[in-house]
Amino acid sequence: MGGEVTMYAFEYFPTFPEGAQLHAEACEHCGRSPTIPAVRLERTPGEDNATATCADCLRAGRARAPIPQWVKRALARAVDVAHPDWSHKQRTDLVASRIDKLAHTPPVPWLQNNEWPVCHDDFARYMGELTHERLLQEHGSAERAKGVLRAIIEEVRPEWVLTMEDIETAWEQLGNFVAVFLFHCSDHAKTIYVLQTA
Ligand SMILES: [Zn+2]
Ligand SMILES: [Zn+2]
Repeated sequence: MGGEVTMYAFEYFPTFPEGAQLHAEACEHCGRSPTIPAVRLERTPGEDNATATCADCLRAGRARAPIPQWVKRALARAVDVAHPDWSHKQRTDLVASRIDKLAHTPPVPWLQNNEWPVCHDDFARYMGELTHERLLQEHGSAERAKGVLRAIIEEVRPEWVLTMEDIETAWEQLGNFVAVFLFHCSDHAKTIYVLQTA
């Protein structure tokens, strides 16, 4: 299979390039395309702007994806909790290597701040966006699919009070003003949902 090498290149983004929203613009580092657009990458210190970069150059360390400080701290805390008996150095080394791996993983399009969820002692793996097609395929009818969407929203936003009308709206707006990003934790064999509303 021709795409095999690329498909399994990113541990945190195993379906890449599917769902990566790459652009035709040439890579500033090697001239190849497609590329990850500059707006989704971190500015290099001392330079004005990030530049469009292909996935290979990102992995090779020629560019970085942005990771917010609070995401880095969440991983550090999670590693402390998971490995209390480890030395400080063992823990900080693991955190540093995982942050480095994520910084060289293509960012998730539309995910604000590239806010990657942490589970157990690692970042979860991005499995794509929740779509109508996906829900209908997995659950058969629109009625059941909406029920599943409702359960997901209630899990992620337990403080929200949802009417039937809210669910209809969420269903209509899914993939537009309502986005649900799917992540997977292999340690716990569970799906983590990141809900974003515009
Ligand atoms: Zn390149
Ligand atoms: Zn987990």
